[in-house]
Parts: sequence; C-alpha cells; structure tokens
Amino acid sequence: MKIADLIESNSDELARSESKDQGKPISLAKRVDIPRAIHNFRFFASAILHTTNTSTILDGVGAVNYTQRIPVGVAGLISPWNLPLYLLTFKLAPALATGNTVVAKPSEMTSVTAWMLAKLFNEAGLPSGVCNIVFGTGPKAGSSIVCHPDVSLVSFTGSTLTGEIITKESAFACKKLSLELGGKNPAIIFEDADLDKCVPTTLRSSFANQGEVCLCTSRIYVQEKIYDKFLDLLVSATKKIIVGPPENDSTVMGALISKEHLEKVRGYVELAQKEGGKIECGEEPLFLPDKNKQGYFMRPIVVSNLSDGSRCMQEEIFGPITCVVPFKNEEEVIERANNVKYGLSATVWSENLSRVHRVAQRLDVGTVWTNCWLIRDLNVPFGGMKSSGIGREGLHGSIDFFTEQKTICVKL
Ligand code: NAD
Repeated sequence: MKIADLIESNSDELARSESKDQGKPISLAKRVDIPRAIHNFRFFASAILHTTNTSTILDGVGAVNYTQRIPVGVAGLISPWNLPLYLLTFKLAPALATGNTVVAKPSEMTSVTAWMLAKLFNEAGLPSGVCNIVFGTGPKAGSSIVCHPDVSLVSFTGSTLTGEIITKESAFACKKLSLELGGKNPAIIFEDADLDKCVPTTLRSSFANQGEVCLCTSRIYVQEKIYDKFLDLLVSATKKIIVGPPENDSTVMGALISKEHLEKVRGYVELAQKEGGKIECGEEPLFLPDKNKQGYFMRPIVVSNLSDGSRCMQEEIFGPITCVVPFKNEEEVIERANNVKYGLSATVWSENLSRVHRVAQRLDVGTVWTNCWLIRDLNVPFGGMKSSGIGREGLHGSIDFFTEQKTICVKL
C-alpha cells in the first residue's frame, strides 16, 4: 500500500519518464500506465488479506486434509518495453504480496521508470534484498535469471520467440513458467453492429500506444453488407489521428520505440503492397516540429484487400497497421479468425446478444471483448492460448503461480 501511495505521489514524474523512454504521449501514460501500476499494488496488497486455504474433514476416516500456501522462493520477472511500469508491476505486486523475493529485469529499452520504482521501494522501507532490479539485455541479464538454479520460477511477458527460448533454457530445472506472449487479434464486426460505438473503439484498439499493445486489433473482419461503409468511416477517422510530440496534449500517437522497430513496421507496409494489399491511408506526409524530425514517427496505416494467408494477416507487426477484410457469415468468420498461430484476444461487435455469446465462446483466445475493448478487472484470468502464452495472470492465476500449495493430512 505504501508503494502504491508513493507511485501515486510521483505520478507526474513517472508519466513523463515513461513517455520519454517509450515514445507514448504523456497524456496516455498519465491516464493508463501509471494509474494501472498503482492499482496493481493496491489490488494485490488487499487481495492477499482475504485469501483462504481449503480443508476437508474425511468422514469415517477420522482425518483432516488442509492446504498451505508457501512462497516459491526467488521469482524471476522479465518484462517488455511497451507498457513498462504497468506490466512490470503486474508481476512485482503479486510476487511480493505472496512473500517471494524477486529478481526483476525490465526491458533494456525502457529501464528508467523501473529504476525510479526501485528508489520508491527503498523509500517505502522494503527490506533490502527483497526486490532486486537488474538492468541489461535479454540474452545476458535475462538469460542469467532464467538459467540461475536458485530462481524457482520465471514470469515473462514479451515476444513469442523469446518465450520459446525461455521455455528451452528453463527446462533443465522444470521451473514454473508464466508466458504472456504476442498476438494477432481479430475484430469481428457484424452487419448489425452499432457503428457509432464500434468505429471509435476499433480505431483505439488498432492504434492505442502506437499499436504497440499486445492486445491491439490488427485484423478487422467486417460483414459484407457494411464493409464499404465501415472502411470509409475507419479510414476517415484514422486520417484525423494526431501524430506528434508526446508532450502535446493534442497528440494521440507518439513515436515508435526505436529506429529498428520503425523500420520493421514500415517493412510490413511494403510487404502489404507486395502481397496485393491496398494502403487506404497513412502514407500522407507527416509534419513534425524540427526537434522531432529525427524521431521514429509514422502515421497509422489501414490496409485492405489482403488474403488471410498473407504474412501481414498472420504475423504480429506490433505497430500502427491494421488490416480490414470482408466476411460473409458467422461460421466462416469464426474459422478465419481462429486461423492464426496466436490466441491472445478478440473483439466481437453485434447488437444480437445470442450471436455475441455464440461467437465469443468459439474463439480460440484468452479474452474476448464484446462491443468494447480493454475493459478488464484484475479478478478475472488474463493470458493467451496457442502461441500467445501459457498460464494466467490476475487474482487467482497470479496467487497460484507465485505460491506452492502443500497438502497436509492430520489423522485425528
Ligand atoms: P522481447 O521478447 O524482445 O523482450 C521482452 C523482455 O525479454 C525484455 O526485457 C528482454 O530484454 C528480455 N529478453 C530478450 N531475450 C531474452 C532471453 N533470451 N532470455 C531472457 N530474457 C530475454 O519483447 P519486446 O519486444 O520487449 O516486447 C514486445 C512483445 O511483447 C510483443 O510480441 C508483444 O505482443 C509482447 N507482449 C505481450 C503481452 C501479453 O500480455 N501477452 C504484453 C505486452 C507485450
């Protein structure tokens, strides 16, 4: 609770640093990243006060079974650059609340707020050695955590490729693993969708945080009858997104994380064209103040006309590119939406309640939002299916993961 209070009283400075490190608008860091980091600590600090163990009286045997939860020991936590403080604290808070010690490594691209947090831990009076934050690159510092025999579990959020490496490297000790990995999230928009709500939310779900959110929409399936109308509305709304200096209040999209990442994302714009896609918007010139001209900015891109099998429709781009394609009916779109290696999240838009539930239940993803996006309570499980990860974060998932459960049998 004290840590949460300290993050809160340093919110402005943390939001500015988060934006400077990552490129996101300061306003977004103030609205999302920092409040979520505060909430993570408050939630797990209070949740841990209300957990119970189970017990059973064995009738006729004269015995009682009960369970005990113990911390696993040293927890290795590794987090990515896109929501630096928010995702790091989503691991730190439950790991510490359940009584573990921690060795945590933030992304080498966005280390500043983790360093500031470490200072707040000292100020809060966390005993030294309880939370150790190490800074360094993945293959060196990250791999050392994964391979260290005294680290009992690894909680990792990042790319599927790194998740595969961590799985192999930790196998020697059968470590507990939680992997929150990449996504290629579909939005399914039926002809009875309320477009007044659907278009602005799909715009946000495609381009929030420069499209650098694992849960961002990147494949938009629109039922044929409203396809042209939806595409027109989405393209005109996309053109109005203000890309610019992160410190401006009017900025909606800031800069991408790095030159390499910008080049990778731009590479997908070229690839989309080679794959037969039509760039509907995003190639117009971008006017930036002189001081930002060398920055890694790009306009949000809408692509149409791609086939489901194209690389742009199959691979995670993790930038401001979203692809729009038509579909005919429910059965067909469920199959097409599921036809990728990822299974993180999806959105479904329809005013038909039965259809919304029918479709949501058949999508192979960890979270389905219907007629909304990104609304999530920490009480419910969060995580991916297929190549999007293993394990679940959130109240029960995180407490189960960061504790070992023992069963004790007492003969009366
Ligand atoms: P990344 O895999 O490159 O790096 C993530 C973290 O792992 C960094 O701290 C990095 O230093 C470390 N790392 C890299 N190689 C390592 C190794 N061999 N051993 C140990 N640690 C290593 O990912 P990124 O580029 O920082 O983040 C973007 C990715 O994260 C995207 O794929 C995105 O979808 C995913 N992501 C997933 C979620 C989710 O909840 N599922 C949330 C945010 C981001």
